[in-house]
Amino acid sequence: MRQYPRPLGKLINELSKLPGIGGKTAQRLAFHILSLHDAEAQNLAHSILEAKQTMKYCSVCGNLTDQDPCGICTDTNRRQDVICVVESPKDVMAMERIKEFDGLYHVLHGAISPMDGIGPEDINLKQLIVRLQNSQVKELILATNPNIEGEATAMYIARLIKPSGIKVSRIANGIPVGGDLEYADEVTLLKAMEGRREL
Ligand SMILES: [Zn+2]
Repeated sequence: MRQYPRPLGKLINELSKLPGIGGKTAQRLAFHILSLHDAEAQNLAHSILEAKQTMKYCSVCGNLTDQDPCGICTDTNRRQDVICVVESPKDVMAMERIKEFDGLYHVLHGAISPMDGIGPEDINLKQLIVRLQNSQVKELILATNPNIEGEATAMYIARLIKPSGIKVSRIANGIPVGGDLEYADEVTLLKAMEGRREL
């Protein structure tokens, strides 16, 4: 089989490294990119570089942001006495979509998983403890995913925090067990938040 000309082969190869993109899709995308006007292709390349260079993690909550601290941490209209703990920035976006929660977030960037060798020190937990020591937080809502790792993480944090007197709650089981927060529909997520129970 004839190889692709080198620049095209390289583009297909890079695209095929993206999650969910197989060889065929990579090829289709590459041909589409070649059909773009120069300005469009430049916009695409530029937006990839710009996002990569300007997006960072908020030094307070760990959320993805282009300004540090992020827009949520600096929004004085939001409640400062409740923090919702999630596993990933994608979960913050899912929570923000339901427009129900107006407190602050803390992103763990993972979950405790002894099977995979991921312990409490491997996730963004120390920063949460520091935050709680210097804040007026009265409630911590644990919104980690309803799977083994998420539950283990929620239990660990609950045991760690409860002695401090801060109310610790866990979102309800509206989200299917084993499911991911980021894929939950808005009604389910809303119900999970409303039905949260104290641990
Ligand atoms: Zn933040």
